[in-house]
Amino acid sequence: MKASEDINKKINLLKEKIADADYKYYVLADPDIEDLKYDMMMKELEALEKEHPELITPDSPTQRVSGEPTKKFQTVTHSVQMLSLANSYNFDDLIDFDKRIKNLIPNQKYEYVCELKFDGLAVALIYQNGKFTLGATRGDGTTGDDVTNNLKTIRSIPLVTKSDTYKNFEVRGEVFIKKDDFIKINEEQELKEEKIFANARNTAAGTLKLKNSKTVASRPLNIFAYYLISNEIKLTSHFENLQILKKLKFPVNPYTKKVSSIDEVKNFCDEVDILREKLPYEIDGVVVKIDSLRQQDTLGSVAKSPRWAIAYKFKAKEQVTKLKTITLQVGRIGTITPVAELEPVFLAGSTISRATLHNFDEIKRKDIRVGDYVTIEKGGDVIPKVTGVVKEKRPKGSKEFPLPERCPVCNTKLEKPEDEVSFYCPNYFCKAQIQGRIEHFVFRDAMDIEGLGTSIIEIFLQKGFIKDIADLYKLIEHKEELIKLERFGEKSINNIINSIEESKKKPFEKVLFAIGIRHIGEKSAKIIAKHFNSIDKLSTASAEDISSVHEIGPKIAESIANFFKDEKSKILIEKLKKAGINFKSEKVNEENLNPNFKSKTFVLTGSLENYTRDKATEIIENLGGRVSSSVSKNTDYVLAGAEAGSKLDKARKLGVKIISEKEFNAMI
Ligand code: NAD
Repeated sequence: MKASEDINKKINLLKEKIADADYKYYVLADPDIEDLKYDMMMKELEALEKEHPELITPDSPTQRVSGEPTKKFQTVTHSVQMLSLANSYNFDDLIDFDKRIKNLIPNQKYEYVCELKFDGLAVALIYQNGKFTLGATRGDGTTGDDVTNNLKTIRSIPLVTKSDTYKNFEVRGEVFIKKDDFIKINEEQELKEEKIFANARNTAAGTLKLKNSKTVASRPLNIFAYYLISNEIKLTSHFENLQILKKLKFPVNPYTKKVSSIDEVKNFCDEVDILREKLPYEIDGVVVKIDSLRQQDTLGSVAKSPRWAIAYKFKAKEQVTKLKTITLQVGRIGTITPVAELEPVFLAGSTISRATLHNFDEIKRKDIRVGDYVTIEKGGDVIPKVTGVVKEKRPKGSKEFPLPERCPVCNTKLEKPEDEVSFYCPNYFCKAQIQGRIEHFVFRDAMDIEGLGTSIIEIFLQKGFIKDIADLYKLIEHKEELIKLERFGEKSINNIINSIEESKKKPFEKVLFAIGIRHIGEKSAKIIAKHFNSIDKLSTASAEDISSVHEIGPKIAESIANFFKDEKSKILIEKLKKAGINFKSEKVNEENLNPNFKSKTFVLTGSLENYTRDKATEIIENLGGRVSSSVSKNTDYVLAGAEAGSKLDKARKLGVKIISEKEFNAMI
């Protein structure tokens, strides 16, 4: 009695944990556990239910396709259920799968189609009379969200297909975001101070479920089609269907192969595992499907996945090693990053001895302790990360890693802003911060000063030749002493000094990025430099002025305003000015400026017929004007397009001049 109660408890706990993970993954598109962990919980639940079938309930996650419509959209009932796929992580599972097929369709020849398993989300596209009429997400497999408008932003989905044979049909495929687009989107999210996505799949899922199709259109979604369903035409082979989809101009992935044995499937999986890194999009495995649709029918499905297909999932590139100790790294703005110092281990082509632990919340959440054996993973990104702890191997008496109190470099008491996860060293003169600031300043994308690597900067700091970035411009005064230093010669010192001199020509936007104001990235520096033209104008602007610049959020604005209020920054800027650094944007030829625009502030609202917002902004700025995102009494013109909203009302209230696109054209 007691044992079965325990099992019931265990099952219920697993169900609860899986339901929680499902909600975060499918509804919020923001999971907080690794896929492998999720799959292991699912396998454990399946095994328990297999032993105790009396405990299976219809709502068990093993019995239904996970996910649900978001309730933000109209729901769509699928013509044919959109199922999940059985998962396997090793070739033995593939061989078992093949044996099952043999037993279920004895004495029949069969072929497999191998495809890539794209890491995105499944959608259904309905065509009526050759026109794309309805598009939906998988949802819970039976009903999904109607995301037709969002899907229409994907250029590769044909809105009309020109075929006399295929008029009414359904296409299923995977919506995804390419690896480099994912990085760009996150850079933009950071700039706008909005949520950073964990991976490309979540970005695609989150994007497709946005209510505003305009935002969806700004994110480059893609699709690969992998199923064709038709009631009108008798279809016979899955592989043929893929060729038909190609002819109908749907994007079908080229890495698709028909094979006749499970050994060939295995070869395909091996090839793809190597190819994987080079693909511009993420995949998490290979999907193996029986080719004959008649045989697919005979095989049918179990609970939530078809018997005629299986997903072979690649193992994440993972290793287990000992965590020797945790060290604290101090960044250029004082951020403390805990770093795992590991027993060196070979993983995916290189030896790893350090991995980032991100922050202390992460250490607590994963309960990582010194002396533990930890799993490290190299995902899409190059920096390895610690993904978990092998608890069974934990040494006795180990303790939680304490929160840091003092800076490991300068011993100053650390601070932690309430709304942030990181600890900071507040000492501006902390050696680690100075070194970090100089490294950032000379960095290729900043002032691009050659010859000043980490160790050389360290030596110059130690010997007292430099104390801050401005001192770099005085190095020339110490030239003779520098040449005498061990490891250096006249040539290398000359090169460094020349490169430092050259950097004085760098444009203002680069300088603004290089001086290392917190939260200022390359893109924001460019926008701000363009808007304010000079350090003098920028340093006297209020946070409010700065945040009214299109695309600049309040966090960046406040950071800039605080920077210029600080006495230390004032001294530094003066020193840099004296050194001859470029603190002004290219002088605009005043004669080219249009008097209608010169020093005038514009606010754009509604949609314009002939210009995008970016284009209109560019025109205004090139003619000497400025564009602000909010209407105030300082606004000179509100340029109102169609469907202008509250900005127009505010302009009327404040008596700001409102101009139409026609009037704007006349002003140009
Ligand atoms: P799945 O990802 O295992 O397989 C089914 C899906 O594969 C299909 O719906 C389709 O979207 C996709 N697919 C990609 N390429 C395909 C192709 N060529 N042909 C057919 N389908 C293709 O199943 P699922 O139900 O979508 O997701 C379950 C998986 O999601 C779990 O195994 C787990 O890894 C992950 N998950 C993770 C969490 C978490 O919290 N980390 C939570 C829930 C689910």
